[in-house]
Formats: sequence, structure tokens, C-alpha cells
Amino acid sequence: MKLRVNPIACKGHGLCAELVPELVRLDEWGFPILDDADVPRSLEPHARRAVADCPTLALALERTATPRPRATMRLARTRPH
Ligand code: SF4
Repeated sequence: MKLRVNPIACKGHGLCAELVPELVRLDEWGFPILDDADVPRSLEPHARRAVADCPTLALALERTATPRPRATMRLARTRPH
């Protein structure tokens, strides 16, 4: 999952940076700069809280595509005759 911000909705309250400073830092005007990396599992609860508490609903958690398991080659079984 990745944390995303809607820059039009965001009003620069800075609450998100207080709740998940590991993922959000603020620019000089108080607007969030988000790390583009996936949210580590250990921080997901904090990221969800930041999303829920954003006063303008500008934050969202986006699912990222999980890598599909590699296709496995099936070997034909041969029965002993
Ligand atoms: S809490 Fe919401 S409105 Fe405030 S800076 Fe973060 S994203 Fe923007």
C-alpha cells in the first residue's frame, strides 16, 4: 500500500506528519511530502489513522499491485504401464 495525498483537498494542517512522521514530512508551507515507497506493514495502522483523521479527507491508502507468483510449469505425469 502507498500513502497518497490529494493536493487540491489538502489544506496543510500537518496532522499527517505528526501521526506518521516516518512516511510524511512537511514542506516549508506545511504541506505534506510523502514517501513513494510502500507503507511498511508495521506502519499501516498509523497510516490508516492518518487517513481517518485528515480533516479534509485528502489522504488515502492505495493498494499496490502485489507481484504474482511465477507461473509454474506443470509436468505431465506418466503412469507406469
Ligand atoms: S492532515 Fe490532511 S489536510 Fe492536513 S496536511 Fe495532512 S493531508 Fe493535508
